[in-house]
Amino acid sequence: MSDKVARHDFYGRTPLIAGNWKMYKNIAEAKEFAEAFKKIYKGEQETKVAICAPFTQLQALVEEFKDTNIGVGAQNVHFADEGAYTGEVSLSMLLEIGVDYIIIGHSERRQYFNETDESINNKLKHIFWDSEIVPILCVGENLEEREAGRAAEVVKYQLEKDLADLTAEKVATMVIAYEPIWAIGTGKTATPEQAGEMCTLIRETVAEIYDSETASRITIQYGGSVKPENASEIMAMKDIDGALVGGASLEPEKFLGIVEFA
Ligand code: PGA
Repeated sequence: MSDKVARHDFYGRTPLIAGNWKMYKNIAEAKEFAEAFKKIYKGEQETKVAICAPFTQLQALVEEFKDTNIGVGAQNVHFADEGAYTGEVSLSMLLEIGVDYIIIGHSERRQYFNETDESINNKLKHIFWDSEIVPILCVGENLEEREAGRAAEVVKYQLEKDLADLTAEKVATMVIAYEPIWAIGTGKTATPEQAGEMCTLIRETVAEIYDSETASRITIQYGGSVKPENASEIMAMKDIDGALVGGASLEPEKFLGIVEFA
């Protein structure tokens, strides 16, 4: 038994490999992916697997994956129940479709759509109080912040704001993805040590905000240019429980290559 398996057994943490399709694929292409992936994915490992797709593909994916243990996730949700919010999608709409996960606070949403720590915190509260859906909260520093030696400070600040006034019980069930912005879609992966160090910092920060029991139960992923070639060394780090995968989740074989290394 490897150290990694022993560690997951010890804390009861199951690795999660989640694909983030961003704004790629139409419904036909999503179905094509699902059919191909179901053929090659045996689902024999304890690793959890999910695909987070654009809203319009969610219903088709839930249908495609209904008799499998492959989860489906959205990439955003509004924090209000309903209202005059043109272009937004509510939690009850996602509950009706039956999604398992929602990505919250991805750096692309923070960067291009003015997502703030305050709205992220409101979204997490809404998900926790009104559903059993698992949020995947993304945090991470940009290149300038890393080069200035401020990575830890930035991520700690995000966590303190994003996780404020939730309950330890709920926080223990969530997923946090450490995604350094300089490693997203750039082909430039953080070294396993850099990724591992920041994921440890995230776990320590959760322990400070809540408690160490909560911190030991939370699932922490790394995301940023994860591919089959670098997945195993990243996932071998003690505080990394999986990956949030962008580009490499668009092709069934590549995505499977990462799932099998988890
Ligand atoms: P990438 O994206 O794997 O293409 O770098 C990761 C993400 O943005 O979640």
